[in-house]
Amino acid sequence: MVTGEVPHISMKKAVLTPKAIVHERYGSNACYKIEEVLESGGSGCPGLVIPQHHKCLYRCCLELPEFSITSDTFTRKKDAEQSAAKLALEKLGIQLTKNKLTVQETWDELVARLSFLFTDQFLSSIHPLIGHFRAAFHREGDLCGLVPVSILATCDVKLKSLCKSISPKSELNPFLMIALLMKAAGMSGSISTSEGELWIWKQNLHSSDIIQTLRNQQSSSAESIDIEAIRIPCSVEKPVETLTLNVSSNEYYMDVIAQRLDVRDCSRVMISRPVGKVSSEMRLYFSAPENPLLVSGKSLEELSDVNGDANLEPLNARASYFSNQNIYGDAILATVGYTRKSEDLFHEDVSLSTYYRMLIGRMPNGNYKLSRDAILAAELPSAFTTRSNWRGSFPRDLLCMFCRRHGLLEPNFSTKGTSSLEARPVILETCKKLKLLNSANDIECANEEAGDANDEDSGGQGNVQCEIAVLSKEQDVIIKYSTENSFRKPNDAIQCAALKVLRWLSNELEMPMEKLSSFGDIHGIHVYPHHFSKEFSLCPSVHKVQQKSIFKKSISLGSVPVDWSNIRQENGVTSLSIEGPYSGVSPSTGSLTCISYVVSLMGEGGHRIETLETKDEFEFEIGTGAVIPQLEACITHMSVNQSARFIAEPPSKDFILAAAGESAKSLSFLSLQGCFLEYFVKVLQITEPLEDRMEQALFSPPLSKQRVEYALRHINESHATTLVDFGCGSGSLLDSLLELPTALEKIVGVDLSRKSLCRAAKILHPKLSMSSDPTAQGLGIRSAVLYDGSITDFDSRLYGFDIGTCLEVIEHMKEDEAWKFGDIVLSSFCPRILIVSTPNYEYNPVLQRTSLPNKEEDLEEKMNSEPFRFRNHDHKFEWTREQFNHWASSVALRHNYSVEFSGVGGTAGVEPGFASQIAVFRRNTPYQAESRNGDSSEGYEVIWEWSDIMSRCAL
Ligand code: SAH
Ligand code: MG
Repeated sequence: MVTGEVPHISMKKAVLTPKAIVHERYGSNACYKIEEVLESGGSGCPGLVIPQHHKCLYRCCLELPEFSITSDTFTRKKDAEQSAAKLALEKLGIQLTKNKLTVQETWDELVARLSFLFTDQFLSSIHPLIGHFRAAFHREGDLCGLVPVSILATCDVKLKSLCKSISPKSELNPFLMIALLMKAAGMSGSISTSEGELWIWKQNLHSSDIIQTLRNQQSSSAESIDIEAIRIPCSVEKPVETLTLNVSSNEYYMDVIAQRLDVRDCSRVMISRPVGKVSSEMRLYFSAPENPLLVSGKSLEELSDVNGDANLEPLNARASYFSNQNIYGDAILATVGYTRKSEDLFHEDVSLSTYYRMLIGRMPNGNYKLSRDAILAAELPSAFTTRSNWRGSFPRDLLCMFCRRHGLLEPNFSTKGTSSLEARPVILETCKKLKLLNSANDIECANEEAGDANDEDSGGQGNVQCEIAVLSKEQDVIIKYSTENSFRKPNDAIQCAALKVLRWLSNELEMPMEKLSSFGDIHGIHVYPHHFSKEFSLCPSVHKVQQKSIFKKSISLGSVPVDWSNIRQENGVTSLSIEGPYSGVSPSTGSLTCISYVVSLMGEGGHRIETLETKDEFEFEIGTGAVIPQLEACITHMSVNQSARFIAEPPSKDFILAAAGESAKSLSFLSLQGCFLEYFVKVLQITEPLEDRMEQALFSPPLSKQRVEYALRHINESHATTLVDFGCGSGSLLDSLLELPTALEKIVGVDLSRKSLCRAAKILHPKLSMSSDPTAQGLGIRSAVLYDGSITDFDSRLYGFDIGTCLEVIEHMKEDEAWKFGDIVLSSFCPRILIVSTPNYEYNPVLQRTSLPNKEEDLEEKMNSEPFRFRNHDHKFEWTREQFNHWASSVALRHNYSVEFSGVGGTAGVEPGFASQIAVFRRNTPYQAESRNGDSSEGYEVIWEWSDIMSRCAL
């Protein structure tokens, strides 16, 4: 069998990719070989013993008979192949530029292609059209062998692209495409049309062999099939409803659709482009107008005037909005058609819920809800705090999706300003010098790699800004927005800006066009009204999806379960009943809360009609508006393990039916008048807002930086040459030591998190390697080691250092381990000076004040009555000043150290003390030459090691 190609007329290289051109020339003599290339430099870290995940890149070697050529590296294999092909073509001197056909040539090709489709040769090939020809030959009488033009226009890619090059408008206008094909058919000597009819057939009879073969190709399923489809009436007053297309074994599905559309035969059925995914077969079917222009013999000028609007049926607003193309009259949405793959009719049911999901998915809020699969609980948040707290699709992706679904170009995101210059000056310098990174994006990656301690902060500080332009297909700017604030990271700037635009769109598109308020710059968003109304004119009339009014009801607290029979009398007041004992852990702004919930549709009398939405685990950030307001209000009254019920008026029917799934069909007949939703919620888990964020909100410089500066002061004052950082984490302290000259020669970090140690190594290595260059900063550090081990175990290699630091570590251990560490460190490691910091529990009310209901007044009372939360969910304890004093004094006394107390954040002597309390221990006994009892345990594992000798040898 041959494929459905026109034999002699070759399509010119209008849209061919480099690879396709190479294939045309060389066929199987062109051989592509893909190599994996491990990215070196950037993420790799010499000296690190832990295997690293390298980013994998691809390079392609193209071997041709004459020569072979290798591409650059790419993240995707196919890009590498195309690049290699392109290089080869350049070398061969073959131009990639389009070789456009003249208009006349294109018409010739169109006529040739159309005629070819009716030849015996084509009919014995494999092509989606074959199924339609089979159906045409099964038909008895006059219509035998006649094929609807709309089918030809829909099923043959080549016809489509030829029509498009004759008239670009035909891509969006099926009427024009049909008119072009009718004209082409009129120009062909071998096929026929007749005035006012939208059929095409072959003038001379097909060979009887072919017809016989086609007729014999019975589809394998002899039974009739039922295809569930959707009817979208033209009148908005009539509801969208399901309908079943029953196609019996000897029937043509297009005939069935024609009947259901009430048109006289299937040639008058118009077919839309695919709806949803490009590759889908979901299309809208509607009736063709009785338009005199849709016949053969018209000039191109006349044809390009062909416009669905000319005295046709009225525009079907819902269907047009839904499919983003002009649809007239009543329409049927169905997934059905022949494919290349099988002789059977391909079909899928389109349920009412699918329709509504696709419909609400066109709006930012609906799309966000869908991405969380929580239509009745989630809401597009009003704020983007951090990437790690965001759940569901990111704003940027949502905006891109929105534009795609409305037939717009990908929006333009541009960031300006330098990223994180303040936050990580040295890394940036390093990166520049190493020429490893050169774009803002890469720097952002570097920060992530480095496990930036400030990772969670998306606010102020930086100077990155983002501008977004939403563009129409014609490249006209529709909306422009620039961030008012600056950000540290390009990604945060982009996400925040995208969210702003999305929220504006959500609000604005709900309203009737006339009412669109802020065509000005009210929210910093600049709208180009003309282009905006052009693109979105159908939105508001069709999309009354987000009726928020219902969410303004008050919530009354009560411990008695609601008596459903009284609900209506309560008239608008939503009731809440909480079950289970108060556990003390309750959500506050910024915390991530995990809940399970069930939403049911309740009838007027309080009986359950249907369970609409159920989720076992649903996590969101409190305070960002990530869920419907009632849900958030309810949850802030609850604590972990409690459950609650409350009711709310239902959102618009679109949302209900989208959530309903299978039951959408039965619910669609129901009037929701008097119905309401019942939410049953259980709070499963609460993750506190990050310590860092609380600290950064209150302290400048951030508390973590103040701790490091405190340690640096002691290092300098003591002229220490050796330092060990117990619980070094990602190495933020060690990192700072490389920025300023100190007397230090040897620095060591210990931690039991390998992930953190890896990050530390990756930060330290490039800096140290550079400082061994004599011209670089005169740092005296000769060696650096990172160990994996627990600081409650002794390792003799760390005995007798000048200074030990242990910043914000002990509270991550159980209390008895903290005591053990105190003993081991002072009895075995014996540093001359030891600095230990830990949170001051008494300071927490100040940190957490922001999340208290009534700020100032309550503070004192709260402090005395209720326990405060720890600053970080990994903390095993947080000590008061007294508890910390007790610990430090006891261990100091036992091991002959003196101890002084101080801190950072807050002022000495002022209640409630420092935010971070610090103890500085000093050894009273002089240095002992050997380790205690000659104990030579070396239990720690070296994770990374650097020495200037090693480094010099390498040079
Ligand atoms: N000192 C660092 C990290 C503080 S976070 C800084 O100030 O940024 C606490 C660290 O202590 C974590 O990295 C954790 O892995 C580490 N840690 C907790 N228990 C430990 C133990 N028993 N031994 C070594 N490290 C420990
Ligand atoms: Mg901590």
